[in-house]
Amino acid sequence: MHSSKRAILQKRLLRWYEENRRDLPWRNVADPYAVWISEVMLQQTQVQSVIPYYGRFLKKFPNIPALANAGTDAVLRLWAGLGYYSRARNLQAAARIIVERFGGAFPGNYADILALPGIGRYTAAAIASIAFGQAYAVVDGNVSRVLTRLLGISGEPKSIAVQSRLWEAAQRLLPASRPGDFNQAVMELGATICTPRQPECSSCPWTRHCWARQQGRQESLPEKARGGPARKSHQAAVVVRHRGRYLILRRSSQRLLKDFWEFPSVELHNRQTASEMAARLASEACGLKINSVEPLMTVKHSITTRRIELQVFQAEVERGAILEPNAPGRRWVGLKDLGRYAFASAAQRILAELRKSSGAASRTT
Ligand code: SF4
Repeated sequence: MHSSKRAILQKRLLRWYEENRRDLPWRNVADPYAVWISEVMLQQTQVQSVIPYYGRFLKKFPNIPALANAGTDAVLRLWAGLGYYSRARNLQAAARIIVERFGGAFPGNYADILALPGIGRYTAAAIASIAFGQAYAVVDGNVSRVLTRLLGISGEPKSIAVQSRLWEAAQRLLPASRPGDFNQAVMELGATICTPRQPECSSCPWTRHCWARQQGRQESLPEKARGGPARKSHQAAVVVRHRGRYLILRRSSQRLLKDFWEFPSVELHNRQTASEMAARLASEACGLKINSVEPLMTVKHSITTRRIELQVFQAEVERGAILEPNAPGRRWVGLKDLGRYAFASAAQRILAELRKSSGAASRTT
């Protein structure tokens, strides 16, 4: 691309950004810690979902030492519902490294940023450009779409060849001054104007220079990615109650959502029926024979590419002593205190149902 065309594209986009950018809580923030938190939360997550989490997180953990010194449960509790929980664990692991190696001050060197857990090329470039004014370009889904159309780049968007063209193009287009604003401007253009369907080309600052616009190919670029089908999983869970307390277990390190608490659950295979497995789970969990369980609800949710249907049952243990009531990774907790534990979204929905039924029961008594 000729340097004069590049200068025009840069100027037009930055002017458009100044006049049209959305007012978001992480705009005009130069603190690298806050930039880092916002960038990590925004990975795979919609802006509107992130806004309340971002505010709450920074209020509770206003700086790197506060995050480094917090308990994992406290961090996961604030993250619950945002999904992709390894992000929260990596944030804390990185905060601890920053305290140990950099005295708690966020490193300003791109290689040091990139070496932190959970920080890839995109996040390192976003922090380096937005918080430190360094000329590192970013490529995310929005940038890929905009540049693919602007430059007429065909091919599988996630392929190594296309990704490497996109990173090169983004770097060439990036101005030396205001790289952070420019990076955010391209992402903003993708999020608000150059949308996946029906982009508003008439309002786009690059409309006169855009290959896809000239060719009428806006909707066919980027090409569709060939993804595999989502995996379906059928699971059963059981809410076991004993003298007003509920049994919860901490998820083991071999499973997704590690360190979260949950009601005992199991994946169903072949011809296993959910109610039988729930009764068996309940018996194993408390060491007493439980013959029957009652259906409570069905929760449909997703974890990464798995689509999960969770059939939830409840069982009351009326007699007998509970086996190992205080074993590690298990707790018997009253309804009021369950809110103090970190639950991911499926368990939170079960908890909401328990609170609802308990409220209804106390109104009718
Ligand atoms: S002109 Fe249309 S397709 Fe091209 S970058 Fe702008 S919004 Fe996207």
